[in-house]
Amino acid sequence: MQKPVYLDNHATTMVDPRVLNLMLPYFDARFGNAASGSHRFGWEAEGAVEVARGRVADLAGAVPREVVFTSGATESDNLALKGAVEAAGGGGHIVTVASEHRAVLDSASRLERRGTAVTVLRPRADGLVDLDQLRDSIRPDTILVSVMYANNEIGVIQPVAAIGAICREKQVLFHSDAVQAFGKLPVNLEHDLIDLMSVTAHKMYGPKGVGALVVGRRARLEAQMDGGGHENGMRSGTLNVPAIVGFGEACAVAAEAMHEEGARLGALRDRLLARLRTELEGVHVNGSLEYRLAGNLNASFEGVEGDALLVALPDLAVSAASACGSHGPAGSHVLKAIGVPPQLEQSAVRFGLGRFTTAEEVDYAAGRVIEVVRRLRALRP
Ligand code: PLP
Repeated sequence: MQKPVYLDNHATTMVDPRVLNLMLPYFDARFGNAASGSHRFGWEAEGAVEVARGRVADLAGAVPREVVFTSGATESDNLALKGAVEAAGGGGHIVTVASEHRAVLDSASRLERRGTAVTVLRPRADGLVDLDQLRDSIRPDTILVSVMYANNEIGVIQPVAAIGAICREKQVLFHSDAVQAFGKLPVNLEHDLIDLMSVTAHKMYGPKGVGALVVGRRARLEAQMDGGGHENGMRSGTLNVPAIVGFGEACAVAAEAMHEEGARLGALRDRLLARLRTELEGVHVNGSLEYRLAGNLNASFEGVEGDALLVALPDLAVSAASACGSHGPAGSHVLKAIGVPPQLEQSAVRFGLGRFTTAEEVDYAAGRVIEVVRRLRALRP
């Protein structure tokens, strides 16, 4: 078993060897610029990009022209929120949720500073959005509602299609950051009634630095990156061909593997939780267990400092909150939003199981966490 055992697949994932293999020729033998329309190098690159676009679209339940390649989901979230508000003439109102990723919350804050009214809903204690509250928050000047598909810390899956239905009824755009769900759940732009969907390759065994915003028929956007007019003018900049090829392959692999992988990871996650609960007292699962990504467990351990726990577990790659939040002293805005008390918030650990996680690794992790929690509790005054 390789140590540390990697259980941080919500932060990022290893590139699948099938993905890497397909990418490699696009660094040397097929290095063309997809926008070079006058020679074979360019045509070859463009062809590869279009194959990848089709694969991303297929997995998203979209059509290829709806896929706008970006540098990742941070950019996609920025483009969705700022682009939709700008296209509507600025001002107006948007609705989002306190447990969203910072890429959404910070984009909303910037829009607020520019004169857009922002409603930030508080999720329920189980992490789910209250649909009545959401419906009531939509005003005549609301431009867009942004609710993520699945949370990156607690793995909670939102009732996306029901939110989409409310947005259609109220005639506002629905943006969903689907980063953590894409390739894991049967995400579908059409069935889920989503207008704008952010996805990224590095959370689904593809490379870092490439993602997409899927832009449905109803959405109007103002580009946030000006230049050569790539991606139908929605996102200028030379396309990252190897990464896009890898993203496409990651989608094709996910489409095949999703069902079986979900069942396997769900069973492993349940086994991890069962052992923690059997052998330790005071284990709290943060957020709904029922509506949760198969590979996610976010648990707090009574009477233990989360930092002390992580320091005592150098052989496990787990995190206290999201990768973006784990370096700051502020703690988890997601756990705060669902009302986890401070002592439990700071003792939370996120386990993220993924495609390459083995049963042996999960058993090892369970044993080590149990051992260290017991030791730290015994040291308490
Ligand atoms: N949205 C969610 C839910 C995420 O988990 C992440 C991951 O960091 C992002 C957005 C940002 O994606 P990227 O790293 O591609 O910018």
